[in-house]
Amino acid sequence: MKKLNYLFPILALALFVASCAKDTSSLEGEVPQEILDKIAQLGFNPDGAEIVDEGYRVERDIILTHENLEGTDVSHRVPNVEQYSTTNLVSTGGSRNIVIYAPVGGGKGYSAAMIAGLDEAIARYNAEGLEITFSRTTNRRNGDIKMTRLSKRDENRGVLGSAGFPTAQGDPYGEIKMSGILESAYGLSTDGIATIIAHEIGHCVGFRHTDYFDRSISCGGSPANEGTAGVGANHIPGTPTGASLAQKSFMLSCTDGSNRPFNNDDKTALEFLY
Ligand SMILES: [Zn+2]
Repeated sequence: MKKLNYLFPILALALFVASCAKDTSSLEGEVPQEILDKIAQLGFNPDGAEIVDEGYRVERDIILTHENLEGTDVSHRVPNVEQYSTTNLVSTGGSRNIVIYAPVGGGKGYSAAMIAGLDEAIARYNAEGLEITFSRTTNRRNGDIKMTRLSKRDENRGVLGSAGFPTAQGDPYGEIKMSGILESAYGLSTDGIATIIAHEIGHCVGFRHTDYFDRSISCGGSPANEGTAGVGANHIPGTPTGASLAQKSFMLSCTDGSNRPFNNDDKTALEFLY
């Protein structure tokens, strides 16, 4: 199952996981039907929805908390253009440093290659001169966002990462679950790892998928609209109409594991939000 040479759908539940999940012991049976209905009402595809500690994991890498599911803000028009944010954003007060905790080494920590990827992701954000900056700590208590390993089971079945959206109180989502085997099992470069981590950080500060309105743009398969998901999908002014794979936004739903530094539209979006 780890041989994904044909297409390497990162940023969460890989494509093959999505298809595997239907064939194997599908976890969606464990999600109550009323919750599946609610996820669908909010515009997400409930197929493959899984129960996680924080709520439910849907659409490969997005965590919908119980709060998200209760916040049925469906007043937002679903746009069909590029670069989207959630309604809740991080309050900066003009300047705010967000500390990311990541454990290093050992069975539950990250390898040097993974940490190098995290540091590169942080450097990419910090290079943009935004009102938010990031730094890394090895002291769990100091972390605003705690990046910890996925379960071995999830890592081994190809889950790559997951994150949620900012809180109504203006804080970033507090947790990134990230695979620790992106280099050791998939051979990703520091830049490739940085791209995935930057993507999950993007969710934590309010980015939705660039191609959320049609994940097939980056994931292949049939067109699939994630909808507003109850968290808003607000078009960011100044960003163009339509997503394309060629533009390689770091917030596309799926990636082939290659490097996707911020493109000009990503930078416009970051600048607008922060
Ligand atoms: Zn994502």
